[in-house]
Amino acid sequence: MFSITNPFNQTFLSEYQYITDEQAISDVEICQKAYMGWKSKTVDDRLKFIKNLIFELENQKEILTKQCTLEMGKPLKQSVAEIEKCGKLCEYYIKNAEDFLSGKNITTDGSESYTTHEPLGVILGVMPWNFPYWQVFRFAIPAIIAGNTVCVKHASNVAGCGKLLEKLFKDAGFPQGVYKNLLISGKQVENVINSPIIKGVSLTGSEKAGASVASAAANLIKKSVLELGGSNAFVICKDANIDDAVETAVNARMQNTGQSCIAAKRFIVHESLYDSFVDKYKAKVADLVSGDPMDENTYIGPLARIDLAEDLEEQVNKSVEMGAKVVIGGKRKDAFYEPTIITGVTKDMPVFKEEVFGPVAPVISFKTFEEAVEISNDTEFGLGVTVFTEDIKEIKEKLHLFDEGAVFINALVKSDPALPFGGVKKSGYGRELAENGIKEFVNVKTVYIK
Ligand code: NAP
Repeated sequence: MFSITNPFNQTFLSEYQYITDEQAISDVEICQKAYMGWKSKTVDDRLKFIKNLIFELENQKEILTKQCTLEMGKPLKQSVAEIEKCGKLCEYYIKNAEDFLSGKNITTDGSESYTTHEPLGVILGVMPWNFPYWQVFRFAIPAIIAGNTVCVKHASNVAGCGKLLEKLFKDAGFPQGVYKNLLISGKQVENVINSPIIKGVSLTGSEKAGASVASAAANLIKKSVLELGGSNAFVICKDANIDDAVETAVNARMQNTGQSCIAAKRFIVHESLYDSFVDKYKAKVADLVSGDPMDENTYIGPLARIDLAEDLEEQVNKSVEMGAKVVIGGKRKDAFYEPTIITGVTKDMPVFKEEVFGPVAPVISFKTFEEAVEISNDTEFGLGVTVFTEDIKEIKEKLHLFDEGAVFINALVKSDPALPFGGVKKSGYGRELAENGIKEFVNVKTVYIK
């Protein structure tokens, strides 16, 4: 039995009981039964259900957004934006899935050769709490359109969102078992992976959970996709438009109260712009409205749990003990952590070398572009980097220097249904979204006719 409390005011929300291992396996069997029928439908037929899902997303927007805001403290406006983004992802695949999954003719010495894309079976998703709907959609929608069925182990602190998601698919008319919510603990995941029915697993979450899930899958030669942590750099070059950079830096670090894998987590600023950046950024950060996440005007809510705010406090305090200086913010009250800017940062400080999952912006300066690249790459992670510069031609020639899954020029790193999303190094492997994402859980079957 575990309970969920509202991180805004610590009031009790609900109590849940994990299902047993036996129940989990019987749910997986339901997904397998559904798979037999689902895979024999055409892509076009499957897309009809996705169209219903868009309708239901709109229909149930209010209850979905409120649940997310209650359970993990996401400011309501940002919860609404998350639901709308889920709808956009569905629209994107409705438009493109047929083309992505169609067979490709290949010229060989045979009379005919081509590939087809076939589903793998039942795929397990293990999902985090920070974008409780978007992360699930990003994994489940392409997998389902490709003909797989999915079961989802959602993060425990958003168990209510997990339940609502299953209802959403049911209300959209999906056959039972195409999408199944598994209310299990992290410890029970391995047992599900061990079921011969499960053909692959996709995890979005921490490095620790990723390593454990990937090992369990690898042991049985099952495919895994890992979307793990990040410590993205935000590089501001000498020739950057500083006002644009400052404006972008606010959302890049602070949206979702800083709890995003692709948030800018280390600001690397040319020495000539350093003071001006810190002053201007401080003024913007000072204006951010913190408070009740149910209030439409709130931009900064509580962190999703008190222990997460305590971890963040420790990372900042340790860095300050090591010589960093808090320019603004730096204080915690319950699950709230003030939007914070830190200067005097060195590479050995926790705010630089660890993933900082909250509204804290460490700023560090550089002299040469080569030094900026070196600082940017000096992390175990490799999800993405933002570079602000006016010299597009030159930066395009230097993109290869960044060890990242994505480079965004003069823009914050974001996920977009049309762009492949994923990392290198300890940020994981595999890609979600776009054509790459829908092909992660398919069998590319080769056909050759003499
Ligand atoms: P987490 O603690 O790793 O949890 C993620 C999911 O894994 C949850 O469902 C969790 O279940 C489960 N889990 C935990 N330990 C497990 C284990 N040993 N075996 C199997 N499953 C296990 O991560 P989080 O705190 O929810 O999310 C924050 C992290 O996710 C950050 O590092 C962030 O950067 C990363 N993230 C990455 C991306 C990306 O696309 N790369 C996107 C979003 C977030 P319980 O909740 O029951 O423990």
